[in-house]
Formats: sequence, C-alpha cells, structure tokens
Amino acid sequence: MLALPVGLMTTMKHVFKKPVTRKYPRAKAEMAPRYRGMHYLERYEDGTERCVCCGLCAAACPADAIYMEPAENEKGERIAEVYELNLIRCIFCGFCEEACPEEAIFLGHEFELADDARDKFIVSKDDLLVKHPRKDRSYKTIFRRTRRYH
Ligand code: SF4
Ligand code: SF4
Repeated sequence: MLALPVGLMTTMKHVFKKPVTRKYPRAKAEMAPRYRGMHYLERYEDGTERCVCCGLCAAACPADAIYMEPAENEKGERIAEVYELNLIRCIFCGFCEEACPEEAIFLGHEFELADDARDKFIVSKDDLLVKHPRKDRSYKTIFRRTRRYH
C-alpha cells in the first residue's frame, strides 16, 4: 500500500537535484590534475625546445613507443630533429615524464584520441611541441624554468 507514495517521494527527491550527467562532447569534464592523456613537449619561456634528445624517455618506455634522432640547433645545442610517439603502442604509464631530466615531456589532459587510420597514431615532434607563444596554460608545473645550457 505504501509502495506508491514512497516511490513517488523518491522520484520527487531526484527531480530537483542537479544532474550528474554532462552534455558530452559539448560539455567536458575537468580532468584530475594527475590525469595522463596525450603527451606534449615543453619549451623554455624564450621558445627554445626543452628536449635535448638524451633518449632517457625512450629507455624508460616499457612499450618501445618513442623514437628520436638528434641534431644541433644554430647555437650548437643538442635537440631532437625527429621525435615520434606511437600512440598505438603507448600505454600512458607516464614513465617517460618521470624519466625526463629536462622536464620536457609531459602527459596532458587531452583524451579524445580516436581516429580512423593507423598512421595518424604516429605523432611527430611538430604535433607534440607546444606552440610558442603558448595560448593556453601548462597542465603541469615546471620546476626548472631557466635554461641550463647556453
Ligand atoms: S606513457 Fe609510458 S608507454 Fe607511453 S610513451 Fe611514455 S613511457 Fe612509453
Ligand atoms: S623528452 Fe626528456 S628524456 Fe626524452 S629525449 Fe627529450 S630530454 Fe631526454
């Protein structure tokens, strides 16, 4: 006998609550600060690339997802001429970020990585490098802001 009013009361309690669902993809959730999504390569404030192509990220990668070739810039500093990341192999463990001594590679918050062709999952340095001057804020805090090599 009481089931009907109890059921109605339960319904009414939820009618005026704020919905927990989002209108994705128009409304996206803020990812947790430590979320590990798409990688990005950082720059110094003057625009110079932080990556010195030391290879430690590739050595730490358990999925063998990183490939690089070194070169020198016009000041004789070592940089990566080629830096490729295979997103099919990557398991988003974050070991590359932890291994990097230059705070050059980070895993950001971008998670919409679906595509329809396998070759689009090999991302290049141009895809990974943040724009200079950057338009958005950095996802992660960089502790060593100044350059050590001149
Ligand atoms: S997140 Fe892990 S698997 Fe992906 S490139 Fe970095 S170290 Fe390799
Ligand atoms: S991203 Fe970091 S660890 Fe990887 S090659 Fe560049 S400087 Fe070395």
